[in-house]
Amino acid sequence: MSIVHREIAKDFWQLSSDTFPLSVEPGPASRNAYLVCGSQRALLFDLSLEEEGLFAYASRLAGLPVQLVLSHAHVDHIYHLSKQPEVWIHPDDVGLLRKGSIFQKPIRPCPRLHFLRDSETIDLGNRELTVFHIPGHTDGSILLWDAQTGTLLSGDTVARRLLYGLHGFVPFPDFCRSIEKLKHLPIRKIYSAHDRCALPPEHIDFMIEELTADINKAKSVRIPFLGRYLSLTVGKETDICYLDLAALVRVRADEKDEDHSSGIYLAR
Ligand SMILES: [Zn+2]
Repeated sequence: MSIVHREIAKDFWQLSSDTFPLSVEPGPASRNAYLVCGSQRALLFDLSLEEEGLFAYASRLAGLPVQLVLSHAHVDHIYHLSKQPEVWIHPDDVGLLRKGSIFQKPIRPCPRLHFLRDSETIDLGNRELTVFHIPGHTDGSILLWDAQTGTLLSGDTVARRLLYGLHGFVPFPDFCRSIEKLKHLPIRKIYSAHDRCALPPEHIDFMIEELTADINKAKSVRIPFLGRYLSLTVGKETDICYLDLAALVRVRADEKDEDHSSGIYLAR
């Protein structure tokens, strides 16, 4: 397995693992990190490839000092993180790094942590990226906006596959209000962590529609040891307009039925 790259905008690279399909058409899930270069520094968004040399690969490609930023702290975004001296992350995902969860071990040793919060900017020299904090996929999920190229790096938050409610819980209406605020940006393309293809800005509206009006079409599925999930698949994986939602259902202790409309699902 090895790392490949392609330029998706000026001085802006998508880094992928060739163990996954390399087509840039909509298709099965893949793993991708992103490298954005300014005149002084570069930024690597996520350690989302299992290949060990991702950070070194990005540094060589950039020819500049590289700042490592995490979209969130899920296990498939932090490969080999313990070998890094420092990393930038939203504070609400630090618990996942330091304490782990039932799905992932704590990172030991944990690199020096620097915090990024909503609406902060990262200056790379002649290029500024803006941070958007959108809790939902995890509590500390962030997206990065590059106004220069109209590119939004969306991690696992604006995506064609949405895993929801594993870490922290944000009711769907709150999540939808959060992603709605991205719509004021003049977005040309959205790049997520698990698709090589770009998503159009309309994908935000599509997600909101499915998580509000269409959420009652979701099937409720019981998974051993994990509990009940809402499962909703819209469209085909080979279509750009596709959503595969898996959301942990949480039922309020005082309710017999799952309350899909409010989006409030609390564990019994
Ligand atoms: Zn994730």
